[in-house]
Amino acid sequence: MAGLRSYHAKRRFGVTAEPRGKIGERGNAFVIQKHAATRLHYDLRLQLDGVMKSWAVTRGPSLVPGEKRLAVQVEDHPIEYNKFEGTIPKGEYGGGTVMVWDRGRWQPEGDPEKGLAKGHLSFRLDGAKLHGGWHLVRMRRRPNEKRDNWLLIKQHDEDARTERDKDILEEQPLSVKSGRTMDEIARHKRKAKRKPAKRIKRKAKRAKRR
Ligand code: MN
Repeated sequence: MAGLRSYHAKRRFGVTAEPRGKIGERGNAFVIQKHAATRLHYDLRLQLDGVMKSWAVTRGPSLVPGEKRLAVQVEDHPIEYNKFEGTIPKGEYGGGTVMVWDRGRWQPEGDPEKGLAKGHLSFRLDGAKLHGGWHLVRMRRRPNEKRDNWLLIKQHDEDARTERDKDILEEQPLSVKSGRTMDEIARHKRKAKRKPAKRIKRKAKRAKRR
């Protein structure tokens, strides 16, 4: 079932800086990427069968077990994608800024293949920000729906919070990879573009002096 055909078909790799990637090794990495596309969302990715199974969590994860967050299953991503932080050009698929918001290891409770097939995957996260037990529960697909809608739900445990506690998304908004804000990631792209020109000028000056 795992494959990257859909991932590759959606992207123009000469234009976007996202990695082409290929099917990789088995492992238990997870990543959550904050993605300011047409609509802001958080992409949850769990490594399984050499790819990252992926869900776009529209309002982001919540530590409150009563707050079920819609998680739309999207195409499998390559493991190389976990390191991607930057800006996908406007007009390209998923155009907008991407931040590595959390990352770490995940552990399925039971057989993850069976859980995915059955539509109920229980797992634990050991990330920089997220910990403890979680559920992904698939909802029944309505006619005309092309994607599977799941719900991401925090399990009741010592890592859960109540509605009165602070929202983890607001409490820890920075990149776990670079410490940057979304704006800083977006601005970095423009700075990088100017660098080569400066370097050439400096070299030219040096050449004149000699
Ligand atoms: Mn996304």
